[in-house]
Amino acid sequence: MVTPAPRPGILDIAAYVGGVSKLAGVDKVVKLSSNEGALGPSPRALAALKAQAGQMHRYPDGHAVALRQALAARWSINAEAVVCGNGSDDVLQLLVHAYAGQGDEVLYSQHGFLIYPIAAKAVGATPVAAPERELVASVDQLLAAVTAKTRIVFIANPNNPTGTYLSAAEMRRLREGLPDGVLLVIDAAYAEFVNRSDYNAGIELVESRDDVVMTRTFSKIYAMGGLRLGWAYCPPAIADVLNRIRGPFNVSSAAQAAGVAAVLDDGFVELAQRHNEYWRDWLAEQLVGLGLTVVPSVANFLLVGFPREAGRRAADADVFLRGLGIIVRDVTAYGLPDYLRITIGQGAEMQAVADALGEFLGG
Ligand SMILES: *Cc1c(COP(=O)(O)O)cnc(C)c1O
Repeated sequence: MVTPAPRPGILDIAAYVGGVSKLAGVDKVVKLSSNEGALGPSPRALAALKAQAGQMHRYPDGHAVALRQALAARWSINAEAVVCGNGSDDVLQLLVHAYAGQGDEVLYSQHGFLIYPIAAKAVGATPVAAPERELVASVDQLLAAVTAKTRIVFIANPNNPTGTYLSAAEMRRLREGLPDGVLLVIDAAYAEFVNRSDYNAGIELVESRDDVVMTRTFSKIYAMGGLRLGWAYCPPAIADVLNRIRGPFNVSSAAQAAGVAAVLDDGFVELAQRHNEYWRDWLAEQLVGLGLTVVPSVANFLLVGFPREAGRRAADADVFLRGLGIIVRDVTAYGLPDYLRITIGQGAEMQAVADALGEFLGG
């Protein structure tokens, strides 16, 4: 017998590892490893999910009409240009499948989200990482890394795991510097957390061009990661392409129902924004006070730098925190071995992690 060989590139993939959620021997962990919304989902989303449970024998609406209309109304966009997915990962993978293949290059920023190189390799394309400047994506470096083979440029804005962002003007400069025929994908998974006047999620850029897609998710501020729901806002021709290749029922009826309710609950999103700003600033101040480096973040997590001193390194802190039942994110796979990424959780969780790091550093 011969084991069938997968397509070239696939065996080069190191499978994505999600945030750890369990620790042996610990009943109740403090999970700050996956950037899940601190407040959990909107009660209205939960009620909508329960209300449709009895209908699980029915196939979902394959076009997610009510959800796309709710999104269109909320963001003042065209519902026909919205494509929903089983998480935004689904949509990101569809874009790579549609627009890149063997011999092509997929460009992203040095400490960009790991799904981009994984998706590129899965279609036999070559991922190319452009250097960053002080943990911020560099438009100049991205443009300098473009070759005749570049098909897609991915940029998470704000970026995970750094928490940094590019202004709307910088994003426009990036697009204007890219050659015709190259697709720019703006992954705005954390857009709802950003409160900066020079930022936008990319809707205007999508609407002003034929070669920009913005993706969004319900996994972060909406805290619905377990349901899997994301969407893309696309030029019409690209929406048409994604609709041809996506699974015909790629969004469950549960996700659709909860998604509509969540989009309508602006009050809950505002609560989550306020909670995040308060505790992000609070935690950053505590950690800086302990002598740690905190990368300025506009998202719902902090990238925290540790000393390069035996016993005080990021890896040592990770072990120490786990011993107390606190799980944060090791970002070695992102090329950041001296850092840990800490999600903004509930107030008591923030107190716990600050106290624990104080103890770790002998404070
Ligand atoms: C969490 C995250 C996503 C969301 O993925 P889903 O598949 O929608 O859960 C997308 N992009 C980035 C940069 C993320 O951090």
